Amino acid sequence: MDYVERVLSNLKKQNADQPEFIEAATEILTSLKPIIDQHPEYEQASLLERYVEPTRIIMFSVPWVDRNGKIQVNRGYRIQFNNAIGPYKGGLRFHPSVNLSILKFLAFEQILKNSLTGLPIGGGKGGSDFDPKGKTDLEVMNFCQSFMTELYKYIGPDTDVPAGDIGVGAREIGYLFGQYKRLTDTHTAVLTGRGLSYGGSLIRTEATGYGLVYITEEAMKVRNDSFEGKTVVISGSGNVAIFAAEKVYQLGGKVVAMYDSNGYVYDKDGIKLDIIKDIKLGHRGRIKEYLDKVPTATYGENIKDIWKIKCDVALPCATQNEIDEESAKALVANGVKYVAEGANMPSTLEAIAVYQAAGIVFLPAKAANAGGVATSALEMAQSSQRIFWTREEVDAKLKGIMVNIYHNIDNAAKKYGHENNYVLGANIAGFEKVAEAMMFHGVI
Ligand code: NDP
Repeated sequence: MDYVERVLSNLKKQNADQPEFIEAATEILTSLKPIIDQHPEYEQASLLERYVEPTRIIMFSVPWVDRNGKIQVNRGYRIQFNNAIGPYKGGLRFHPSVNLSILKFLAFEQILKNSLTGLPIGGGKGGSDFDPKGKTDLEVMNFCQSFMTELYKYIGPDTDVPAGDIGVGAREIGYLFGQYKRLTDTHTAVLTGRGLSYGGSLIRTEATGYGLVYITEEAMKVRNDSFEGKTVVISGSGNVAIFAAEKVYQLGGKVVAMYDSNGYVYDKDGIKLDIIKDIKLGHRGRIKEYLDKVPTATYGENIKDIWKIKCDVALPCATQNEIDEESAKALVANGVKYVAEGANMPSTLEAIAVYQAAGIVFLPAKAANAGGVATSALEMAQSSQRIFWTREEVDAKLKGIMVNIYHNIDNAAKKYGHENNYVLGANIAGFEKVAEAMMFHGVI
């Protein structure tokens, strides 16, 4: 057994109850083999053993009062995984599926994603099994205040800077920030994704979706291709999906299908994004309502069927493991040319193997959805300097970062003899800097 295999085998034993974390660690460590082989000093320094172990995991109780005066209790988490190149940074997810395994996989991915942005941010993630869906604003506020009453002890603008993720948008960030401010009496960049009136950055809301399309556009450009006239399928209809769709339209593409967790809509004439925005951002409704406005569209409850729709570009933007081997085969059979991940780990390992065998261009999440966290880092930069950049300035920086990420992962893939393998390219390009910093810091 070589070094990587030994570390993985041990990790699987120690974390047998954490399938998502094992899946992410297997994907990452396996693809790091070429760089590990070139650096025997990493094994000497037990670098991988330290790299796969979070600095700390904070788990806490979140009691709150619901609309009937009943006390509810949820579980809160923050995983501070690696701060070799900057303060821990990563979103908070509020969703009933949240558990330690999912958060550890997300935090682990985040280390390399944040490194790829070229900005000084480490990796972390957190959240709760609380479900904001169907709750009143007051219930969400009660929950957020209780969550922050515990979390505030562990975060700070130079320590750990959380942001939003699934179930945590502008409303939740506002309540979380308000409570942090109240508890500490400071007004600092302790969270990103803040509202514009209290230190947020322009384009942060759009950044993940826009960034996803910018990096895909670059992958197309070097192949003398573009979004012009392309048919695109996007899963999800939340923050990432909506702004990815917006940018696709700006670049001349057509989005024909989107979904939420109940079902998908297919509109062969192109989804009318203003209607989706009105449903999702306007009144937090269900995507099925689209049919009330566009009766020629169709609706299906089996969301996996979205991947059977013929398209040139697939942008999974909902959640982990939404494309399995069967769905990947359906996409390939229908002639998909590009798959770029807006969500975190939406493709299973088996699905990725299908894309790679078919030779389609596959841009993995840690590169393709890094635009959100990159713009969060731009928000932090603006806050420290007490200045605001214009929309155009932030957008231009975001685009520059995404174009750079594409070329960095492309170069790393080529350098290690795996041209077009952007999984390997992204992992290695992200890891190089983290490993170097960890070696500089000694045994800590
Ligand atoms: P939102 O909560 O805004 O939207 C999530 C979307 O995905 C909704 O349409 C939701 O449907 C759907 N969804 C969630 N869980 C499931 C599920 N189990 N099955 C089917 N559909 C589901 O989240 P975001 O758009 O912010 O995040 C989407 C993905 O992008 C996540 O993987 C997140 O980690 C990743 N990401 C987000 C970033 C950001 O800046 N927001 C940055 C980088 C990555 P419903 O409303 O019915 O639940």
